[in-house]
Amino acid sequence: MAEIDRMLEANKEWASRFPGSKPVRPARAVAVVACMDSRMPLFGMLGLDIGDAHVIRNAGGVITEDTIRSLTVSQHLLGTREILLVHHTECGLQSTDDRSFADRVEQATGRRPFWSVQAFTDVDDDVRESMKLIRDCPYLLSHKVRGTVYDVDTGQLREVR
Ligand SMILES: [Zn+2]
Repeated sequence: MAEIDRMLEANKEWASRFPGSKPVRPARAVAVVACMDSRMPLFGMLGLDIGDAHVIRNAGGVITEDTIRSLTVSQHLLGTREILLVHHTECGLQSTDDRSFADRVEQATGRRPFWSVQAFTDVDDDVRESMKLIRDCPYLLSHKVRGTVYDVDTGQLREVR
């Protein structure tokens, strides 16, 4: 747990420079859905500040039931009206497929996941699929969504049409 000790220590330094509290509603009324990849520092790479946007992350940045749950809360309770999707190059989910991932978990633990890992091969297609799922989602107040792919080698974000 040495890494967590380092984080708790780092927080003391960070909190000493804390700019003060902000409203709970995101100032820029945007929700970002992104992969959990460690190379994507979302606030810096999107010019976001504390209090600006909701950030919903998971493996792949895919639209799961829980992503929908979070987006629905984001819009109905906290006023966001636009959604940005951020997938990226060299995603871990491109190195497997749904069946072999389930096999791997089952072999290691004896339990086969009931959920799909949602692996993919073409990142642009995956972004388009995610945009479609949001546009088709019946629970949202706004379906304004744009999708992007972040290049982990250059730091550039490319929009997917
Ligand atoms: Zn990823």
